[in-house]
Amino acid sequence: MKYISTRGDKTERGFSEILLEGLAPDGGLYLPVAYPKVDAATLAKWRGLSYADLAFEILSLYIDDIPAADLRVLVDKTYTEAVFGTPQIVPLKSLEAGLCLEALSNGPTLAFKDMAMQLLGNLFEYELGRRGETLNILGATSGDTGSAAEYAMRGKAGVNVFMLSPHGRMSPFQQAQMFSLQDANIHNIAVEGVFDDCQDIVKAVSNDLAFKRQYRIGTVNSINWARLLAQVVYYFAGYFQATKAEGEQVSFAVPSGNFGNVCAGHVARMMGLPIAQLVVATNENNVLEEFFNTGTYRVRGSAETFETSSPSMDISKASNFERFVFDLLGREGARIQALFGAALSKEGAFTLSTDEFARVPAYGFVSGRSTHADRLATIRDTWQRFGVLIDTHTADGLKVGREHVQPGVPMIVLETALPAKFEATITEALGADVKAPRPAGLVDIESRPKRFEVMPVDAARVQRYIAERVSI
Ligand SMILES: *Cc1c(COP(=O)(O)O)cnc(C)c1O
Repeated sequence: MKYISTRGDKTERGFSEILLEGLAPDGGLYLPVAYPKVDAATLAKWRGLSYADLAFEILSLYIDDIPAADLRVLVDKTYTEAVFGTPQIVPLKSLEAGLCLEALSNGPTLAFKDMAMQLLGNLFEYELGRRGETLNILGATSGDTGSAAEYAMRGKAGVNVFMLSPHGRMSPFQQAQMFSLQDANIHNIAVEGVFDDCQDIVKAVSNDLAFKRQYRIGTVNSINWARLLAQVVYYFAGYFQATKAEGEQVSFAVPSGNFGNVCAGHVARMMGLPIAQLVVATNENNVLEEFFNTGTYRVRGSAETFETSSPSMDISKASNFERFVFDLLGREGARIQALFGAALSKEGAFTLSTDEFARVPAYGFVSGRSTHADRLATIRDTWQRFGVLIDTHTADGLKVGREHVQPGVPMIVLETALPAKFEATITEALGADVKAPRPAGLVDIESRPKRFEVMPVDAARVQRYIAERVSI
């Protein structure tokens, strides 16, 4: 399988070429030249497979420059009960008839990002070892992404992680998750500023091309194709658990921010998985909901980007969205360049033509919005009626998913985090008596020794810090 950019550069690259890269050189995102099609006979064959076996089958369709035996080893060591807590890896929990949760958040950091990041860690180590290279990952986080990256890369040969976070602004649990890691290749930098300051530092360092080359700076952000590909697998795994035979359809409701998770659902559907609807659930930051209901995509400024109780969905733009629009508009790179390159940088928004917008329903997408009050009500209702405790992001997905249930089509709501990560809102919804359970290994996490360095908002300081710790 070869990969091309969404912005018109037709150069075809192999999987291991794009694995360690972010954007394509023309500023676009990578997508396969075509989606491999999976027919009913193949689905029937895959139905009984373990998660790791299923992952191997699906990844093999997209990766032909890693020997099959090596890919097999990487997948087998990623998707284990030891890492993800259950033999099914992504078990379904049923709520009322026709509605269930798919648990994606039983990995080491209790959020769905582990599903892809754990594989990415093993792929990076493999590819860097094969090339005899090293990589220094620089990132900014306000919570889930940074910790998922650190737990995926800890102890990996050839990889260092330098993760910036806003000093004192993450929850104590999130902070403890990251700062308690004692691995020599993990470096936490607590920046005396807000998340945007951290992102600006990452941008400044990455724009220093000489430094970037000399110190081999890379990223693991959500536009990485390998992350998206890993996520395709759990759409198939959810389908097999919710249905008895091929030909049956399901729908998925997806708590969305950067459109990475639901874009993997789009890829699964393009491959032929019988998905009736992909329900894009947003919180008050409704960039995506606005698009799917009006055809206008409008990037928000910081004054219009709200801090909510489902913080991992607080986005001002959806960085993976361009991939879907590329498919929607017939894969014309010039049109994508005009919309995402020219129109967004000039106006901060674009509106599809009536004809273009009319094509959206054929791709199964619908969308809705959920607010803080909806989250509290949904957490309370789910606890009282089913005895199931859900987190705030999953509550957004459940609220919006329920609005789109169709008779005879199971609605699978993706559970993207565990409630233990968001104790304050759980207490607000259910009172102090209900405590979100923590996995056994994390009970005392806040009291463990912490390893981090506090720094002012100063890109040069960060560069110096990296230079002192990386040999060139
Ligand atoms: C990252 C994240 C999301 C949003 O996923 P996208 O791929 O950015 O759409 C939703 N919920 C949780 C818990 C997350 O960590």
